[in-house]
Parts: sequence; C-alpha cells; structure tokens
Amino acid sequence: MNSTPTDVDVVVVGAGPTGLTLACALRLHGLSVRIVDRADGPATTSRANFLHARGSEVLGRIGALGALPQESLRAMRITSYLGGKPLMTVEFGDPGMGTAAPPMVVSQARVEAALRCRLAELGVTPQWATVVIGVRHEEHGALAELDDGKTIRAQWVVGCDGTSSVTRRSAAIDFPGVKLSERFLLADVRLDWDVDRGGTSGWIHPDGLIGVMPMPDPSGADDLWRVFAYDPGQQEVPGDRDILERIATILPARTGRDVRVRDPQWLSVFTVHRRLAERYRWGRILIAGDAAHAHSPFGGQGMLTGIGDAENLAFKLALVVRRLASDALIDTYEAERRPLAAQVLRGTSTVTRVNIASNPIGRFLRDRVAPRVFGLPVVQRWMTYTASQLWVSYRKGPLGARGSKPRRGDRIADLACTRPDGTHTRLHGELGGRWALLLPAHVSPGENVAVVQRRLGGYVGLLTYQGDEMMLIRPDAHLAWRGAHTAVTELDRWLATSLATGKSR
Ligand SMILES: Cc1cc2nc3c(=O)[nH]c(=O)nc-3n(C[C@H](O)[C@H](O)[C@H](O)COP(=O)(O)OP(=O)(O)OC[C@H]3O[C@@H](n4cnc5c(N)ncnc54)[C@H](O)[C@@H]3O)c2cc1C
Repeated sequence: MNSTPTDVDVVVVGAGPTGLTLACALRLHGLSVRIVDRADGPATTSRANFLHARGSEVLGRIGALGALPQESLRAMRITSYLGGKPLMTVEFGDPGMGTAAPPMVVSQARVEAALRCRLAELGVTPQWATVVIGVRHEEHGALAELDDGKTIRAQWVVGCDGTSSVTRRSAAIDFPGVKLSERFLLADVRLDWDVDRGGTSGWIHPDGLIGVMPMPDPSGADDLWRVFAYDPGQQEVPGDRDILERIATILPARTGRDVRVRDPQWLSVFTVHRRLAERYRWGRILIAGDAAHAHSPFGGQGMLTGIGDAENLAFKLALVVRRLASDALIDTYEAERRPLAAQVLRGTSTVTRVNIASNPIGRFLRDRVAPRVFGLPVVQRWMTYTASQLWVSYRKGPLGARGSKPRRGDRIADLACTRPDGTHTRLHGELGGRWALLLPAHVSPGENVAVVQRRLGGYVGLLTYQGDEMMLIRPDAHLAWRGAHTAVTELDRWLATSLATGKSR
C-alpha cells in the first residue's frame, strides 16, 4: 500500500455541517486540518431546514453566519389541522436566554455553503471525491485509509461521516437503536395554492400526517415548499416520478385544498430511526454528529446537535495537540455530549411517535390533550426553550460543579463586555477560537492573565464586564471557572487539574 506521510493534526472525515464546523473551529485554534468527503462536490439539496438559536450562536462564534440571517425566513410557527380545522399553533419565538442569535428557516445547503466559505478564509478546502474505507491507529496517531490505496496520517481522526459512518464501524463502535416509523415521502416543490407562508402547517389525517414548510426562495417567486407525507404500508421503493405523482394525489386529499404541484427540486424517501453510539471514542479516533446519533427530523435537532458536538470537541483537541492538556481531556467530549444526545433523542422520538400515532390512546393524546396543553403560553415558551438548545449545561459533567448559578459548565449569555482598549463588544463575538477571561470593571488583572495564558497557550482574550467575580469562559460559551479576582492560585490550580485529568475536582 502506498502511504502518504502528512503533517496534519486532524483529519476530518465528512464535509457535512458537523465536519465543516469542526474544521473551522480547529483552524481558529491554530491546528492543521484536512477534510475529505466521498461526494463529488457540495450538496445542492437540503435535508435540514430549521436551525434553532444555539446553532446560529455557534456559527456566529466561528464567524460563519455570513448572510444567513438575511437569506433565511423567520417562519418559526407550526399549525396543526384536524379535519380541516386548526387544532393548535406552536410558535417558536424569541428564546430569550441572552442570545442575539436568531432561530432560522434556512436550508442545510446554505448553512454548509456559509461554513465552506469561512473554512476557505481559514485556508482549507474540502477534498471531494475522497472516500475513506477504514481508520486505524499508529504508534503516535491515527490513519485514514482511502479507496485509491492511499492513506492520510494524522494525530487524530474524527468521523463526521453521517449515520452510515465508516469511521464508527471501523472503530467497532456499536450504534444501537430502533426504527420509529415507516416511510415518509419528501418533496421540495413549487405549489400553487393559498396557504400561509408564515410557518409550517401539518394536517392530521387517518391515512397519515402531511406537512408543508415554506422554503427560502432565491428566485423571489415565494412558492417553494417542502412537503413531507407519512406513507405507511407501502413496500416498493418509489422512483422520483412515483413520489411526485403520489404527493400530487395525497396533498389535496389530506389537506382538503386545491393545489397544483410542479417543478420538483428534490424528491426523496426517508424512515425515522433513533440511534446512539455506545462510545464516541476509540483511542485517537472520534465520532461526531450523525455518525454518533441518528435523529428524527421532527424538532429540527440533528444538525443542531452535530454542530454543537464539533464546537465542544475542537478546543479540547487543540489543547491536547498543542500538549497543554493530557489525553484525558478528550474524554470530557463524550461525557458532556453523549448525555445531551440521549436527552435530545428522547424528545424527538416522542414528538415523532405522537405525530404518527395510529392507536386510539396515541390519537386521543394528540388530537384532544395536546391542543389544550400546547396552546398554553407557558408551554410554548418551554418548547422554544427546549428546541433552542440554549439550556444545554455541562454542570453534571466532569468539568462541572454544583452550587449557586452560574455553575461551572453552564452556558453564559452573550454579555456586554469591554476590551482592554475601551471598545465595547459582546462576549460571544470574542469566543469561537479563544477563551475569555472576564474581570469586573475597574479591577486590575494582576497575574490572572499571565496564568491563564500560560496554561492555555495564548488563545485567551481579556474583557471586563458588569459583574462581581472573575469568570473564565470556554470557547463554546460555557463557564469554565469563577471566583474572586484575587483567587489567582485557585484558578491556576483548577486549570492545572482540569487540563491534566479531565476532571475539575
Ligand atoms: C428530511 C430531513 C430533515 C431534517 N431537518 C432537520 C432540521 O430542520 N434541523 C436539523 O438540525 N436537522 C435536521 N435534519 C438532520 C440533519 O440533516 C442531520 O443531522 C445533519 O445532516 C448531520 O450532519 P453531519 O455533518 O453529522 O452528517 P451528514 O450531513 O450526513 O454529512 C456526512 C458527510 O460525510 C460524507 N461521508 C460519508 N461517508 C464517507 C466516507 N466513507 N468517506 C468520506 N466522506 C464520507 C458524506 O458525503 C457527507 O457529506 C433532517 C434530516 C432529514 C433526513
């Protein structure tokens, strides 16, 4: 076999949203990266259409938000109909939680394009038509084997290669789970009809749920929609023509509306699975995104969770590669992110089961109980909060702490801060590729900055804010440590312990 020695810190397998986010964040932390993908080029069709607030926050932190807020729709409302009558409306409003990042209706293809654009600014281009057929360890690193017989050597390999991940299989990591549904039909099409484009509409029907979601339309015609229809009990695998014909038949039948279906952009079929990898790591080989957790599309959480995995992993890999932390820090990635994925999977699976319920109890809960409950403003706020993932905290993880808020591991809001030169800024804009040391205004930094810089090897910004305590904020906007600004020894000890052991106590 022909080996190609490389001098790369990390190989990222897969240039989907998870891999691209990871590659951007690793570059921001100064690592060398290669990102490969088996596809011939970027995807032009789009699976995800919703990006909730936490995802927009991550893109903002790594400088990849670009024009997405302007290009996207703010159609974050979901209305269900039963027998032609509106049953309930759920509004994903402002999630609060001190975020400036909007939840967006935006295509996954546009999100990936924005990430590629940012990655190009950081000096990296995905290597297309490059198929990884296996991964394995070497004495001081890991190796990705390509289908042309070549290999790529790196210190770490991260598989962001989706639900059928070769990386995960090669690392013998189990991916247990269940199938939650029979087939759904999916069609991105132009529709001539009179339905509100201010949100998603779903019709509950004895033959199966059908939903329509407005899609941003660069042509300006504003008639592009995503249609998804539950279509159980069908055995054959339909071709594009079958899907289009079936959608054209069942859309008017299940919605009771006159509609002309035309100009298909993408036709597909999917079944819903719920799966969670047993481990996220095998030595120097890691998995992230759909390679680690397969979600139902209901709730718009898959891409969101993958992007979050990438941001969590990147700064830990950077510290380990730069020999500022021990290998044990990498274990905190799984310890922090896997319980979150399990929680998100429970939520999206419940939503799926309710939506496709056909037994009498499930139907009663969906058609009679849910409208009363989900109509309540307090429940709507809770749903926005849940979907946003702004609630994510790692306080129960190995780097977290109990006690009064904010606790170590909690997300810190996008606070107003001031740089040493007196310019005003927001906290999240200062993160991404860096940590932030926040000091109360009018307090001398003393030795704190030097201590943190030494432990973290630079990549730290000093800011002041309207608070009483010193806070060290991780690049992913979670609290690392807080205490009195005079507690420099305590801060130094905490950093030393956490970086050496991956545990903060
Ligand atoms: C219908 C539908 C709607 C959805 N809607 C939403 C939504 O609204 N919001 C949301 O957050 N999520 C949504 N999701 C989920 C979302 O699409 C996924 O969670 C997301 O794509 C995962 O990103 P990823 O980068 O982890 O994996 P992927 O996007 O699957 O990317 C994996 C990449 O790896 C490459 N690859 C695979 N194998 C190899 C190999 N051997 N060698 C090299 N490259 C390889 C692939 O070509 C691909 O580019 C939806 C999913 C579906 C099916």
